[in-house]
Amino acid sequence: MEGNPLDRRAFLGLVGGVVGAGATGAGTGEAIAALLRTGGPRRPPGPPVPRTLAQAMRGPVMTPRTRGFANASHVYNERFDWVRPSAVAFPLDALDVRGAVRWAVAHGVRLVARSGGHSYAGYSTVPGGVVLDLSFMRGLSVDRRQGTATIGAGAQLIDMYVGLAHRGATVPGGSCPSVGIAGVTLGGGMGLAARRFGLTSDNLVSAQIVTADGRVRTVDRRTDRDLLWALRGGGGGNFGVVTQFTFSVHPLPRSAAWFFLQWPWSSASDALEAWLEWAPHARDELTSIFHLEAGGGTPAVKVTGQYLGPSSDLARLLAPITSVAGASASTGDQAYAPLQMRWAGCLHESVASCHTEGTRAGGKLERASFRAKSDYLARALSGRGRATLLTAIEARQRQPGSAAILFDSYGGAINRVAPGATAFVHRNTLCAMQYLTYGGGAAWLRATHASMRPFVSGQAYQNYIDAELSNWQRAYYGSNYSRLVAVQRRVDPQRHFRFPQAIGV
Ligand SMILES: Cc1cc2nc3c(=O)[nH]c(=O)nc-3n(C[C@H](O)[C@H](O)[C@H](O)COP(=O)(O)OP(=O)(O)OC[C@H]3O[C@@H](n4cnc5c(N)ncnc54)[C@H](O)[C@@H]3O)c2cc1C
Repeated sequence: MEGNPLDRRAFLGLVGGVVGAGATGAGTGEAIAALLRTGGPRRPPGPPVPRTLAQAMRGPVMTPRTRGFANASHVYNERFDWVRPSAVAFPLDALDVRGAVRWAVAHGVRLVARSGGHSYAGYSTVPGGVVLDLSFMRGLSVDRRQGTATIGAGAQLIDMYVGLAHRGATVPGGSCPSVGIAGVTLGGGMGLAARRFGLTSDNLVSAQIVTADGRVRTVDRRTDRDLLWALRGGGGGNFGVVTQFTFSVHPLPRSAAWFFLQWPWSSASDALEAWLEWAPHARDELTSIFHLEAGGGTPAVKVTGQYLGPSSDLARLLAPITSVAGASASTGDQAYAPLQMRWAGCLHESVASCHTEGTRAGGKLERASFRAKSDYLARALSGRGRATLLTAIEARQRQPGSAAILFDSYGGAINRVAPGATAFVHRNTLCAMQYLTYGGGAAWLRATHASMRPFVSGQAYQNYIDAELSNWQRAYYGSNYSRLVAVQRRVDPQRHFRFPQAIGV
């Protein structure tokens, strides 16, 4: 794409899939290599490395001279629109990824992978370096005999849900349709089927990864048990660029239902107390999220959830929380794939439009500007803990913008995995909490997070990655951190895949 005057959307429309883009732009020469060079070139083993990135791969390479480059360099969170990489490259396959990685290592250029671009801290873009956008690599196939699905690392979650549903199968993922399969899997992957089927990473059986030495490795229990362990929750951006994931699949649930509960704000503390006693211990088929929200006319308290069974069961199953004064409930049955479209906010949209704008032809989901932090609860919140949160929401309600404090229920299949069995350590926990603020609220976020220290476990979710978090090694990875560092030293001894919260930094 160098020098090719197409904007990104037109370009995506033309190419439209995983294949078909010819290599263009070779010949911009040393100027680009020089532009991208940040130090520490190394000669990787194998054949000589071309001078330019465009010569190193077949897929298109956009540079600041390419029309549409600014859009192409954006990630989901608009707060990082200021970041200017020196190239955005679109590999067509694992060999292209290898070409790009070898080129970056040889020229001492920083390279980061981008799947869905949803990193909270903007770690899938890099000032002056190369963004390797995997969006052309999103093929999906199912091996019925093995009971597995193989998915390209550039797929977004909606691609996976819909593609697998057509084949009668599913893999648990998150609720946002445009989150990338790579980031979500590598950092854990919590969603509304997780208490039944586990985290996305719990279902990972093998991966193909390009490491800094330029090798394309197939990683499974047999070939590299430690690296597979690390890829199951050890965090995106570490170890290399994953090109495809193979998961165990589950039969598509035969029946599924949604529920939505709401209370007046005066019942918020009681509703939260009841939810914490109930949600982590409910039937595995039932996963829910508790919401405290500021920004509407009054603060709001809600629960959203999914049940892998008929909605006629829900009156009985939800009774422990609908008994809290003032509860109003709505429920309904829905086939599993449309239910995922509902959570995505795309129920009446096409699958094509259910992608972030600019990342796929026809994608309509808007990007957002937000800040976030997270915590885990190992035990229920005391009355004082709940009051601290409600006071925070009431304070944010008086400020411009909006905010939410969300609780994802754990337990079930998530907690039946031992903390050291995969790199995802957060197993002895009731729920994950995240604090989100939109349209300002940075000081509120820090103060609210600080005020909750006496009530939380000290762990944080690596997929809600927080550039301000001190002691993040312990918070994200706990007792698994030292094993992760050992894997990192083995597969990337020169620490080519570095970012501020990379393993071993
Ligand atoms: C709106 C929204 C909703 C969310 N909902 C959920 C949810 O329901 N459940 C949940 O668990 N999480 C959720 N998340 C968090 C999400 O899981 C993380 O932000 C995740 O890291 C995003 O993955 P990505 O591929 O979209 O992001 P990216 O920004 O592309 O990648 C994230 C990190 O992984 C690295 N990476 C990307 N691709 C590769 C690759 N192929 N190989 C190696 N490293 C790679 C990047 O360099 C970056 O460091 C949500 C986030 C947002 C913004």
